Amino acid sequence: MGKKGTKTADLVLFGDVVTMDDTRPRARAVAVRDGRIAAVGDDAAVIPLIGPATVTVDLGRACVLPGFIEAHGHPLYSAVLLAEPVVDIRPVTIADAEEVVEAVRKAVDEHPDGTVLNGWDPLLQRGLPEPTRAWLNSVAPDTSLVILHNSGHVAFFNDVAAREAGLTRDAPDPEGGSFGRERSGELDGSAFEAPAVMAVAGKVLAGAVTRLPELLSAECARMNAAGVTTTSEMAFDPNFRAALTAFSRSGALTTRLRLYEMSNPQRASEVSPGVGNDLVRQVGIKIWADGSPWVGNAATSFPYIDSEVTRAMGLVGTRGKTNYTEDEVLEISRPYFEKGWQISCHANGDDAVTVALDAWERMLADTPRDDHRLRLEHVGAMTPDQFRRATELGVTCSMFIDHLYYWGDILVDDLFGSERGTSWAAASSAIAMGQRISFHNDAPVTPINPLRNIADAVTRRTRSGRVLGPDERISVLEALRAETINSAWHLHSDDAIGAIMPGMHADFVVLSANPLLVEPDEIADLRILATIMEGRTVFGKLR
Ligand SMILES: [Zn+2]
Repeated sequence: MGKKGTKTADLVLFGDVVTMDDTRPRARAVAVRDGRIAAVGDDAAVIPLIGPATVTVDLGRACVLPGFIEAHGHPLYSAVLLAEPVVDIRPVTIADAEEVVEAVRKAVDEHPDGTVLNGWDPLLQRGLPEPTRAWLNSVAPDTSLVILHNSGHVAFFNDVAAREAGLTRDAPDPEGGSFGRERSGELDGSAFEAPAVMAVAGKVLAGAVTRLPELLSAECARMNAAGVTTTSEMAFDPNFRAALTAFSRSGALTTRLRLYEMSNPQRASEVSPGVGNDLVRQVGIKIWADGSPWVGNAATSFPYIDSEVTRAMGLVGTRGKTNYTEDEVLEISRPYFEKGWQISCHANGDDAVTVALDAWERMLADTPRDDHRLRLEHVGAMTPDQFRRATELGVTCSMFIDHLYYWGDILVDDLFGSERGTSWAAASSAIAMGQRISFHNDAPVTPINPLRNIADAVTRRTRSGRVLGPDERISVLEALRAETINSAWHLHSDDAIGAIMPGMHADFVVLSANPLLVEPDEIADLRILATIMEGRTVFGKLR
């Protein structure tokens, strides 16, 4: 029975509780009341809160952690791209090039009104044809065909799709993006970077707004199944705002969202920084300083090596360049920053990192702000010196650690060679230089899977089993922090989520065993027994 005057808990979990609270890293029990954590500690800490209506669960050796937080995701795009009518051809779905081409032909046959496919990746689907305008037109002579590269940084489109999108040879390149062109000046059927990709594929995304509840419910279920209770949307399109607000008010949202709106030519958002609540909140603005190493437009200081793959892609000896100059990054960032926004900048290559840091150093000199948490995203080729410089500026990094698993072998053997390839996603260096890193899958680029991210960081094992840059391995605890409290901090939400402490939201993931106690190679295969958000079980079962 609860003590007189003490409101009893709704739920008490007994198990191996890993809190991410440095003052009490491990506990035996956690009590939940009204969706918040009421007590954490040993049995004595929670027993006074147990009343007749309290549900108590003994989880035995199962491990309770803060719900996983994806610091960089695209749930709204995943929701749309992983549902009808978009056809899923991602490497995780179809590995074989011939089967991909077969899927494209079938999709064209089955969608006489036009088709959009997502997930083309010649690096992981070896032997794909070059998606030239001629090839696209031959596959779909009479209907619209758009194929999105798995990275999201390129779209390939046929002539009908160009016509339907109103794109002619006179179409100007949008700010921050470009259209590929033939020597004659005609569009060649390729669009690079979000502003150009959107010009080609925007219709299918816009058409999905009305189906948002159905699509986002499915995406929430995918995230909850991976133990995720909070994610960010790093390319938020304000056209989704009304539908998203309505959906969140309906109570059906089972993952918290933090929104980063895409920068626009007006350099303004219709809302103020921090608008929303702990369930859905807009915290930032997103810009893209470069593209993807998988398509040739990550801005690196070093060139692609000479290999069969880089020859086929026409990349031998080339280097990607940034989407913006330093002045342009400054000019885009400053108006938002002055209004109080956190800014997040996509930067895969080290040259892109330099451009962003140079621009922001000037911005911060003019407009200093404490605790701004300006963010760099992915940071594949970022160097130790750059991590140190970022730390000094208060700039923080979210790392695409899952690159190592999917593309690790390719980085070394096919694209950049041993030195650059093995130091990709240099997590240990980042931490040594004072960075408080977070991890992400950038879903749908790779399927959302925090446990594998943790395993990636701890083992640095690629798909072939090779260990890539063993010096850059980090401890399990550091990796857990990157998927919980550090991610919460990146999202300006560490006051409410990311640790198991009294007063915080009762967001948990329950794992089959404690990742701190199993062999590193077993971490990726731990089972998610249950995911709890706001004290409510949103995936699995507690018993
Ligand atoms: Zn992204």
